[in-house]
Formats: sequence, C-alpha cells, structure tokens
Amino acid sequence: MARRAHRLADAIARDFVHTLTGSIAELPIGTEGNRLEPGHQFEWYWLVKQAPDLFKPSGLNDSLERTFIFAQEHGVDRKTDGVAASLDENGAIQDATQRIWAQAEYLRALASHTDEAARAALPQQVALFQQRFLRPEGWFEIKAPKGDVARAEIPSTRRITSQPHTTRCRAKAERRRTLFHMVRKPVESWYRPLPAEEICALCGRPIPRSQRDLHHWVPKTKGGKEVAPLHRICHRQIHALFSETELAQRYSTVEALLTDEAVRTFVRWVRSKPNDFYERTRRSGRKG
Ligand SMILES: [Zn+2]
Ligand SMILES: [Zn+2]
Repeated sequence: MARRAHRLADAIARDFVHTLTGSIAELPIGTEGNRLEPGHQFEWYWLVKQAPDLFKPSGLNDSLERTFIFAQEHGVDRKTDGVAASLDENGAIQDATQRIWAQAEYLRALASHTDEAARAALPQQVALFQQRFLRPEGWFEIKAPKGDVARAEIPSTRRITSQPHTTRCRAKAERRRTLFHMVRKPVESWYRPLPAEEICALCGRPIPRSQRDLHHWVPKTKGGKEVAPLHRICHRQIHALFSETELAQRYSTVEALLTDEAVRTFVRWVRSKPNDFYERTRRSGRKG
C-alpha cells in the first residue's frame, strides 16, 4: 500500500510538477495548452499535509509550499478572495469563474497550513465562503468573478418552482442530502479544532478558547506579521504597559518583555490565577 502510494507520488512529481511554480498541472508537463487549477493546488496542499512522511521521498512537500503561494497570489482574487478556476503556466488567469469546490479546498489548505497567519485567516474566509456560495435552500455551484451566479441551469443552483409539490419536496430533500455531503463533509474533513492545550507565550499557562487573543510581536501598524496566542488578560497588559513604538523597537520578544519589572510582576501575579481568569487591565500609568 505504502509502496504503491510512493510510486504514485513519484510519478506525479516527475510528470506533473511545474518546476517554476511547484504547481501540479492538469496535463503532463510539456503538453500544449496545459493549465494549473488553484483549487487542485489547495487540495494537494492539504492532502500532503495529512501524510507528510508518505510524500517526503517524492519532494512534493517542498514544492507544495511554493504552490500554495503561487496559487494564492495568482488564483485568489485580491478583492473578493474568490478562487479562479484555472491559470496558465505563467499564472495568468485562463478561466476566471469561481467554483464552490475550489473555494472549499482553499479553506482546507488554510486550515492545514504550516503558517499560523494563514490559519488565522480561516474564520474570515469561512464567512466569505458562506456569503458567496451558500444560500438557505442550497448553494451556488459557479460564480462569475463579480459575484453573479454563473451557469444557473446547474441543478444545485437552479431554483425549482415548476414541479408539483411532492416532487419539489423530494428534490429539496435530495438537495439537502447532497449539500450535506458537499458542504458538511468537507467541513468535517478540513476543520480541525485548535490544539486543546495552547500555551500562552507570556505566562506559560494553557489558554481557554474564550480567552484567546493573537498578539503581533511587532505591531501590525509597524509592519509586523508574526503572531502568537496569548491570554486576553496577558495581551491587554502588554498593550497597557507599552506603546506600539516601544513594542516594535524594544519589546518584540518574550525575553525582551520579561526584562521589564512590571511585566515580571504581572506574570508572577497572573500565574496564581485560574486559566480563564479575566479582569479589566489595571492601568499602569506608564504608557505614554
Ligand atoms: Zn497568559
Ligand atoms: Zn497585541
């Protein structure tokens, strides 16, 4: 079984991986008119993350990190975050329509992403997905780049109004069942809860979900990208003690923060509290 999977992964790496971008093409490399589908890149990204050891010998693990960046940069619309159907080998859009499955694969890739910042984008992307593709009675299969419904004749997209009531009900039940598989199943397979015991970088205690904040080590306004989960109370305390400039210039690591006596006093105090303890930040009067 594992050997067969290895052979298959090797064959894909050899014949379908586009060297420049790391993307897995739809047709063997060298075929004229080849295309790269961002949805498939995201699907592969997720798949390989599920069994990294299996794919390691093929080199796919490494190429897919590049693939994700390529697919996101060229295939995800900057304004709407809709995923385009296909790109050519230079990353130019070939088919700009957006399909629900590709959008779901994007969510899956984000959920399994190595980079915390990518995973942090997931809740917003789930909301966008719902807004763009789901509706009370079902879903839209394909959307045009501007968000209009495309290919309205597709059964899942079509509103059934002309059939007798019983047929209509049956069709509705049918659609709901399909929707269950289409939407619910991907949800189950891509959604992984956060690790149960996430540890606060400042105080070292586990963070309950309700108290989880993300702190930018260098404030976002100063161009910082790296984030870490902290207790809300720990997070508020840091911002009560230091201005954004101070954080950016002098206190952008835990070690640096802990050189400050007020931070150490706070950490000693908060460590004696229950993990979900929260009270309004005590003003230090030092911020300015
Ligand atoms: Zn904490
Ligand atoms: Zn912060």
